[in-house]
Amino acid sequence: MFEDKTLVCKDCGEEFVFSAREQEFYESKGFVNEPLRCKPCRDKRKNAGKAPREMHEATCDACGGVARVPFIPRDDRPVYCSECFAKMKEAEAAEAPAAEEEAAE
Ligand SMILES: [Zn+2]
Ligand SMILES: [Zn+2]
Repeated sequence: MFEDKTLVCKDCGEEFVFSAREQEFYESKGFVNEPLRCKPCRDKRKNAGKAPREMHEATCDACGGVARVPFIPRDDRPVYCSECFAKMKEAEAAEAPAAEEEAAE
């Protein structure tokens, strides 16, 4: 009852096949709309949230090495490379429990 359909991807403009099987699947799920995007583009969008953000290069405030950060570095804000950042996190984590104990007393 379903026939393969050729659709045009909204994102890349490529034609893709909306197969009879997929149409059946869509109907079984109660989806009323046809897919707007080809599979690679759909996968891309699905993974978009997990994909690394655009990285900016800056100079690490601690070691002077290259730091890659997911935000645009500002002059008034220290930037650390991933190594120094990890070290600082470790130091913070090591200090945190002691501070909490103090607060509890
Ligand atoms: Zn596409
Ligand atoms: Zn560094």
